[in-house]
Amino acid sequence: MTSFKFYNKIFFLLTFFIGLSHYYSQKKFTVVLDAGHGGSDIGANRNYPDIGSVQEKNVTLGIVLKLGRMLEKNKDYKIIYTRKIDEYPSLTSRTTLANRSKADLFISVHVNSSPSRSATAQGTETFVQGPNQNKANLDVAKAENDVIFLDEKDKENFASYNPNSPESLIALKIQQSKYLEASLIIGGLVEENFVKKDKRMSRGVKQENLHVLRMNAMPSILIETGFVNNYDDAHYISTEEGQQAIAESIYNAIVSYKKLVDRNVKEPEPEKPVEQPLKNDFRILLMSTPNKYTNEDPALKGLKYILPIKENGFYKYYYGTTNYASVRDTNLKTAKDAGFRNSMAISFVPNQALGMGYYTLEVYAGKDKLDSRSTIMKTLPDMVRNKENGIFYYTSGKYRTLEEAVNAQKELESKGITNTVIEKKLK
Ligand SMILES: [Zn+2]
Repeated sequence: MTSFKFYNKIFFLLTFFIGLSHYYSQKKFTVVLDAGHGGSDIGANRNYPDIGSVQEKNVTLGIVLKLGRMLEKNKDYKIIYTRKIDEYPSLTSRTTLANRSKADLFISVHVNSSPSRSATAQGTETFVQGPNQNKANLDVAKAENDVIFLDEKDKENFASYNPNSPESLIALKIQQSKYLEASLIIGGLVEENFVKKDKRMSRGVKQENLHVLRMNAMPSILIETGFVNNYDDAHYISTEEGQQAIAESIYNAIVSYKKLVDRNVKEPEPEKPVEQPLKNDFRILLMSTPNKYTNEDPALKGLKYILPIKENGFYKYYYGTTNYASVRDTNLKTAKDAGFRNSMAISFVPNQALGMGYYTLEVYAGKDKLDSRSTIMKTLPDMVRNKENGIFYYTSGKYRTLEEAVNAQKELESKGITNTVIEKKLK
């Protein structure tokens, strides 16, 4: 990873990685160390005439124990091992342990093996969970409500967390992308140390779909420390000195990473002024269509706070209302993430009376006339009826401003008349 890219990543970290759980509770920085394989699962292995049998499960445990010993000397860290002996914890139990202990970082150590016997592949590489597996990740986060720690800003935007609402799902996706950013940073630091300190060959940091990372609700990396079927690598990773050097490189990366996180949470953006409200309100225009949808229609992709406004026979569906730029931008992102790729923010002057025409409420549209004994007709006996293209439209009231129409709409809702649409009549 080039240093420009690397500092770019740090910028991401500083911008987005504002809240780690350990910040709120002042708890120790918890690192889960996962020695790959173990027990009957030997992992990658190879026999050499001079150095003997090199087995992944032994190499990974050797490195992890050395790394853990270094971290344990530092009182800032709490270390959790998925195994400390030659046994095999399932991948799921490794992940569950990490999630339940609300770890800040998950480090899995492995040994590589290239498919060919030519043994030309050499060096280290670090994997992070790419965004492709977010769904599995999200399912876990949804199931384990307590592993979710949204940061302060997200909490404002998604105040009411409901695991089944699309908004919460989007909030979780934002959280997952933060884990990816953070994982790329720690992965980059590890590989950088391998190259600079240990003079190893690095194959870089890669995004992959790996089972042991996929379910983790924290920044996580899987380090391939060398190729078992490459003689130089196999020799290096099987010696005490090689394992110690690898452990030190990972240790230094964890310490640097923690510094970045601490620096970020301890300097609460003093230069950033309190956001001032804008003069205008902003709503996100999702789509403009001749189709009339009820609030629950799948076409609205589960988004709540929808305001449809009818104009010239078209229904314009707006999402959210705010006079804060940051919320407007978040709402726009929410809409795009929900699938409204062409959505845009539209500015509304508050309490602006229409120069000509008026707002009214479309209470009903349908092929059949309303029965005079129906609840709607009894509640609103003075509705105006129009017929266009074989459809009867019933409208009620005349309002000067959008806000007045919205209030009238709310009043009707309290009387049980729902799914009315505000219509802008320009005549
Ligand atoms: Zn492995």
